[in-house]
Amino acid sequence: MTSVRSPYPDVHIPDNVSFFEYVTGNFKNFGNKPAMTDGITGASYTFHQLDDAIKRVASALVKRGLKKGEVVAIISPNCIEWPVLFFAVISVGGIITTCNHGYKETELSSQLSNAGAVYLVAAKSSVRTVSKMRYKVRERFIIGDADGYTSYSELIRDDGSRFPSFVKINSKTDICVLPYSSGTTGVSKGVMISHYNLVANLEQTRPVRIRNRKNNCSLAVLPFYHIYGMVVIMSSCLRYGNHCVTLPGFEPKSFLRTIEKYKDSLLSTVVASMENIHICSARKSYVRNISVRDVSPSKVARLSLVPPLALFLLKSPLVDKYDLSSLEDAGSGAAPLGDEVMQQFLRKMKVKRFVQGYGMTEASPTITLVSPDENHNLGSVGRPVPNTQCKFIDPDSGKVLPPNVPGEILVKGPQVMLGYLNRPKATAETIDKDGWLHTGDVGYYDENGICYIVDRIKELIKYKGYQVAPAELESLLKSHPDISDAAIIGIPDERAGEIPRAYIILKDSGNGKITTEKIQEYVTSKVAPHKRLRGGIAIVTEIPKSASGKILRRLIRDQYKKSIAKS
Ligand code: AMP
Repeated sequence: MTSVRSPYPDVHIPDNVSFFEYVTGNFKNFGNKPAMTDGITGASYTFHQLDDAIKRVASALVKRGLKKGEVVAIISPNCIEWPVLFFAVISVGGIITTCNHGYKETELSSQLSNAGAVYLVAAKSSVRTVSKMRYKVRERFIIGDADGYTSYSELIRDDGSRFPSFVKINSKTDICVLPYSSGTTGVSKGVMISHYNLVANLEQTRPVRIRNRKNNCSLAVLPFYHIYGMVVIMSSCLRYGNHCVTLPGFEPKSFLRTIEKYKDSLLSTVVASMENIHICSARKSYVRNISVRDVSPSKVARLSLVPPLALFLLKSPLVDKYDLSSLEDAGSGAAPLGDEVMQQFLRKMKVKRFVQGYGMTEASPTITLVSPDENHNLGSVGRPVPNTQCKFIDPDSGKVLPPNVPGEILVKGPQVMLGYLNRPKATAETIDKDGWLHTGDVGYYDENGICYIVDRIKELIKYKGYQVAPAELESLLKSHPDISDAAIIGIPDERAGEIPRAYIILKDSGNGKITTEKIQEYVTSKVAPHKRLRGGIAIVTEIPKSASGKILRRLIRDQYKKSIAKS
């Protein structure tokens, strides 16, 4: 066998619809079912209201000059306005670049200028950072209100007259979203994902997804700015008419309280009348103006997790104080989760299923998934989704490996990105001439075609499922006046999966002036929280490098492991 084909029959992937049409096409049939609810405030959109809001905002954006192919950045935690802005922009052929709202101004400036963003939408919590940004856009929008920004409520007051009923989108070649990922090497790059890539990935996961029962809802605590939250949670929920309850981030009590709150509540309390959408911002008006119609019982039955969240549910004593009996299904992705943790989770949380998926931003994102109908070994990531092939190669020789021998995972399928924005070399290094995406992950498949991930050969570090690119931190450290060279590795951490650790060479041996504490402060002031050097800083006199100057991270990692074993 040279590659593992998906065991599922190929699915038909329409290539003549935009992602907007594909996801929202059924909204009229879902009518007054709840679509999005803010888990904290209770503000909510029904499918009907969401449809209306998207068209108004799209029309307002067109009137302000947004054109096909222009990039709009969203810098916001999850909220019910997020999908409105997202689908409004892509409905007119705009491209969304999604930003981590914890980014500092230089990180934001760098992404927005690289993406060539012409508009941005910020949450109120990001206003201070956005205002300090050097990069300037044509117009700034805000969810809430702030001086110098056009408010969401103004956009939504638009009469919808310029909503384009037809925009010519070439779904295979037009970029729909531009999230950032460092891929197998270097700094973060814009991942060009087409409308077709996204339509394909939702169609590919359809035969293996957990069917929604009784209008149960999903809790969206994982951020929509990451491809997992954006596609697997938000877009999938909306496409299938499921209810999505959003949280702006993970905070233990609100997370548990929200699951308990929506245990079996009627969402009638948060369904508002259609009329109000014309005059009020969603956030302010919906809870106050209640007009109940066609509401269905809804409970949080499904949790999409990353390993640290699964560990939290398993280990935190807080968990026992809440009634989480509504939970039926859980899924995990974005980072490895061992079979033992999965066993314990199943026993403690009493969910019917706990499945794992494997994916990456460059694959829109899903590559393999455990089918809910099959009893797979718990540590596995399942089988390739339909229309997908995986092969496992020896990274040195390129030889294709047989079952049960770990090697680099290569992927081919309609979900594979168009490439990296303005980076033909990085694109060619990642997608070879035969169309195989080189993932930089190490795994194997067994005799039954079930896949396992065992390691990573790419530089990427994953802190709680979030990407940390060593090259970015190394470049930041090297820009410090007292540092002459730096290397970053990821070291294992029980709660976060991995944490970044720095090895630095000081200029003039530091002259006794600089301390590791000062360097920590410097890094903390410049980067988003997930990139902090939680693994510590070691001052060294040499950084192992290859003849071509490449940092030999594996050697540093091995040395670190030995030093830990000794201590
Ligand atoms: P991202 O592009 O941020 O989604 O990161 C993708 C990377 O996350 C993959 O290339 C893997 O290294 C890692 N990853 C995703 N899912 C899994 C999984 N189930 N097990 C192990 N690693 C995973």
